[in-house]
Amino acid sequence: MIKEDPSIRKADKQDDDSSSRRTVLKGGVAALFAGFFSRNVSAASNPKESATTTPRVVSIEIFSASGKSEKIVNIPKVVKTDEQWRKQLSVQSFKITRRSGTERPFSGEYAKSHGDGLYRCICCGNALFDSRTKFESGTGWPSFWQAISSLNVIKSSDRSFGMQRDEILCGLCDAHLGHVFNDGPKPTGLRYCMNSVALNFVPRG
Ligand SMILES: [Zn+2]
Repeated sequence: MIKEDPSIRKADKQDDDSSSRRTVLKGGVAALFAGFFSRNVSAASNPKESATTTPRVVSIEIFSASGKSEKIVNIPKVVKTDEQWRKQLSVQSFKITRRSGTERPFSGEYAKSHGDGLYRCICCGNALFDSRTKFESGTGWPSFWQAISSLNVIKSSDRSFGMQRDEILCGLCDAHLGHVFNDGPKPTGLRYCMNSVALNFVPRG
């Protein structure tokens, strides 16, 4: 029996921000678990996913509110229409996550935050980064030297704006999160350069 991720539920209760963010979390969790129970995990994959076709099944690592790995589940990707995403997300979060935008440096709420906890996807609640891997990059964007799980993020080649970069997407809902570079600190040497509006910080429980 799969139970709702307590860290997401807790975040939902604690969040006194806009009602839209609460909807995001509820929607993400509902989609995640409704999908898990209603779909066959061996469903055929669809290279072009849309809200009208059966989403591809992916492996996602589930983390507790304390940041402990609990299990790996095979669940359908969270796929929604632009209209559904717009209802859940702020204008800025939609622009960044669903249209591969970039927030202005030093404008995001997590650029200089030092809270202890997990950073989850603003769209679907998927665990992405642990604050213990966050560091001061001086770039004006929240930066991490490691993703919480290689299963939970996707690296994709991005050739936009005449640059060759590695884009980072949410493994569960394909939200654009930011980019990863090779000029980070030890032990990985990586710098995950993220957009604050793509993330939702949940204090460690
Ligand atoms: Zn996501």
